[in-house]
Amino acid sequence: MEQFNEIASAFECPGTYLGEEPYGSGHINDTYKVYYDVDGEEVHYIRQRINHKIFKDVPGLMENIGRVTRHQRKKFEEAGADQVDRRVLTLIPSVDGKDFYQDAKGNFWRTYVFIEGAVGIDVIEHTGQAYKSAKAFGGFQCQLADMDDRLNDTIPNFHHTRSRYDTLMQAIEEDAHGRVANVQAEIAFAKEREAIVDVVIDLMAAGGIPERVTHNDTKLNNVLMDCETDEGMCVIDLDTVMPGSVLYDFGDMIRTTTNQAAEDERDLSKVEMNIDYFEALVKGYLETASGFLVPKERELLAFSGKLITFEIGLRFLIDYLQGDTYFKTRREGQNIDRCRKQFKMVQSMERQMDQMQRIVEGFQ
Ligand code: ADP
Ligand code: MG
Ligand code: MG
Repeated sequence: MEQFNEIASAFECPGTYLGEEPYGSGHINDTYKVYYDVDGEEVHYIRQRINHKIFKDVPGLMENIGRVTRHQRKKFEEAGADQVDRRVLTLIPSVDGKDFYQDAKGNFWRTYVFIEGAVGIDVIEHTGQAYKSAKAFGGFQCQLADMDDRLNDTIPNFHHTRSRYDTLMQAIEEDAHGRVANVQAEIAFAKEREAIVDVVIDLMAAGGIPERVTHNDTKLNNVLMDCETDEGMCVIDLDTVMPGSVLYDFGDMIRTTTNQAAEDERDLSKVEMNIDYFEALVKGYLETASGFLVPKERELLAFSGKLITFEIGLRFLIDYLQGDTYFKTRREGQNIDRCRKQFKMVQSMERQMDQMQRIVEGFQ
């Protein structure tokens, strides 16, 4: 295709461009596996059209990714790691010397070295995957703990749970789609938990929890696992890397990794926080992160799962009340089903919170 040829010639990939095909199961960017011939050998890259509807500041985002991946590479090299090119994303520069290319239509593109022999897991199958993924994300945070200058805030207030809560109260008041009456139980559930929304924000403002470099999309499939050894090789999907609390990353690992049910599962009996997966997450995470965590961060690891799950539940509830304008829906009521799944996970964590806390303390 003509467009693909134009994009291909905009990057400094050696060899002859052969073609490309859609790749992976990401929901945000358009991702392609790209084929080149280099002296008779086939070489692959990942090329992505960055979703600039969601990411309003693509140059700022790409600056973050460039800085983070170069810092990681330096750390791996200093530590004498093997296979560095499979452990960190490598950006291929554009012909005008940038880390991305903007085409005539205003779309942003980037190209990474393709990491061979490693895959992202969509739905967890066993505790080993939780362990390895958390270990990889903890290692990622650890490597970035000593970055000098602050990264760009590409999505300001990304995890400001208080403002989400306030938006919910406003959406209830407006009741723009006449849906408030349908969701009284969910609204009551949210109101009963108002006290938790300020915990991390207040501690960060008071300096009790440090601001760090965080990933902000710590799903299992954002760690590529080596097909032979199962090792968590490379943390990918760095679009949301920015300043934040490590609790947001760990909380989102708990939310997304400890349950196999679909995001909009209606049979809530299938929705429970699996304590074995939780334990594996804690073990893996503390192996790489315990060196830099302060006591307050450690103390709130179990709580962070509840907080982030509650926050995402609020976002689905808000979108339902506002008429499904933010999250894509395929059927009526999908956003409220998503909300119910998150709130059921919150409940499941509340029931198991003592045990979760003991597990964290057991790894001191
Ligand atoms: P999204 O934000 O849409 O999830 P990702 O950056 O996670 O986008 O990329 C989508 C998928 O492409 C990933 O889940 C992974 O399977 C694959 N992928 C991304 N980068 C690489 C890479 N450098 N090497 C191999 N596969 C990759
Ligand atoms: Mg992804
Ligand atoms: Mg992403």
